[in-house]
Amino acid sequence: MKIHEYQAKQLFEKFQVPIPQGGMATTAHEAYEIAEGIGGDSFVVKAQIHAGGRGKGGGVKVADSLSDVITLADQILGMTLVTHQTGPEGRLVKKILVEQALDIRQELYLGIVIDRTQARPVLMMSAAGGMEIEEVAARTPELIIKEAIDPAVGLQPFQTRNLVFGVGLDPMLLRTASGFINNLYKMFVAYDCSLVEINPLVVTTDGQMLALDAKVTFDDNALFRHKDLPPLEDPNEIDPLELEAKKHNLNYIRLDGTVGAMVNGAGLAMATMDLIKLAGAEPANFLDVGGGASADMIANGFRIILSDPRVKAILINIFGGILRCDVLAEGVMEAARQVKVAVPIIIRLEGTNCDIGRNLLGASGLNFTVAGDMLDAAQKVAALA
Ligand code: ADP
Ligand code: MG
Repeated sequence: MKIHEYQAKQLFEKFQVPIPQGGMATTAHEAYEIAEGIGGDSFVVKAQIHAGGRGKGGGVKVADSLSDVITLADQILGMTLVTHQTGPEGRLVKKILVEQALDIRQELYLGIVIDRTQARPVLMMSAAGGMEIEEVAARTPELIIKEAIDPAVGLQPFQTRNLVFGVGLDPMLLRTASGFINNLYKMFVAYDCSLVEINPLVVTTDGQMLALDAKVTFDDNALFRHKDLPPLEDPNEIDPLELEAKKHNLNYIRLDGTVGAMVNGAGLAMATMDLIKLAGAEPANFLDVGGGASADMIANGFRIILSDPRVKAILINIFGGILRCDVLAEGVMEAARQVKVAVPIIIRLEGTNCDIGRNLLGASGLNFTVAGDMLDAAQKVAALA
């Protein structure tokens, strides 16, 4: 689960990770009031969307007066912001963050991610802040200093020193930087984060360190133990079909292609997507209905695939184990009773009760073709899509 920058900064504050003064606004008037409360005469107005690269896209602007704040707030609220992370369709801005503008001496990068190879959280710090870290990693990987943390012993003082000296930070800042990094790591662990990223982390001209940007992602599998987190999710930032799928406990991810795929098991779903591509078509979604799906879940999954206007043909690839093929057939027929099926369906059923499943579908009056095996199924669906 992802949250907005302003929400991530509220969590930082709880853990004594310093942030600029500011607040979230949904109208120009609110923006004005926040700026007035901050005081001074220089502010930053920042679009709140779940995508990076907002600065380059025109979603982060400096205001030199209170009236400037109103002008910029009006300009950014309601704009469709396009960045390298939003795709060409962009994202509608409904919220902004108004902050004090800081006098920046130095911009750094600080991130914590889970490294699955090492099975540990890894702290990454770089003097090349404000730039895309993927670029830095590709061109000048030596500029990124990494420390893997043993979760049993936690972050050790020598590791923070390695980071601070590794990026060439002023040694006078060691104490400040160590406190900053320690508090951030505490937050990462306390909230079961999968990623925390501050780009840039800034040193101001008066020697303070603050998180100027904040990106936080939580491990969905740990959300059950953080009751305060789910309410932070902004439904505006989630694909409506993915939101609907989540309600029905389906693992659904929307993609850009034209072949809708309904599969049981994540591994089989991945293999099916590979075969669709191999056959020359593109999958419109990833959908794993799960091992023990009910007819209801199947019906919901099928309905969600059908409601995507990009879908030109559907491939149902089920290996009946715990999920019986007759249950699958009932689910598909239930969905077909609720919504009109205007696209061809290719079906590959194997395993438990596959004959009953095929017979049920055969008698259902639905327009579908039975495939011999997986490759045959992928080729048939690609030809139709
Ligand atoms: P994004 O990464 O989405 O482009 P950032 O929050 O990193 O957005 O902002 C982009 C740039 O804007 C920063 O690298 C920084 O130079 C500048 N900036 C952002 N917030 C402030 C602020 N409060 N004071 C001064 N400059 C800022
Ligand atoms: Mg940034």
